Amino acid sequence: MDITPEMKARLDKFIVDKFPGGQLYCTVCLGKDVQTSNIIIELGKYTQGVLIISPGAVKIPLVPVICMTCGSVGFISAVIAGLVPGFTKNVTPEKDKNKDAN
Ligand SMILES: [Zn+2]
Repeated sequence: MDITPEMKARLDKFIVDKFPGGQLYCTVCLGKDVQTSNIIIELGKYTQGVLIISPGAVKIPLVPVICMTCGSVGFISAVIAGLVPGFTKNVTPEKDKNKDAN
């Protein structure tokens, strides 16, 4: 999936808000010339050479980040960065407080 200009703006804000110093740096060479990719990729569950295509297949959407000095590649979760919808959490509903008051 391509990263739209709106997604890129959200990603840039996420980096400014969440990363030390408001910018990416390379965890290998500590260089600061690290660029985000313009695509979202996905990692899938390893299935020992069998390709499984099903609605329940687990995929992890990621934005590659590439160090322009040493070539190291890392990833930012596209879900955590708010670029794509996340997974539904299994949450126990809160009790209705009005019922408890009666
Ligand atoms: Zn590097």
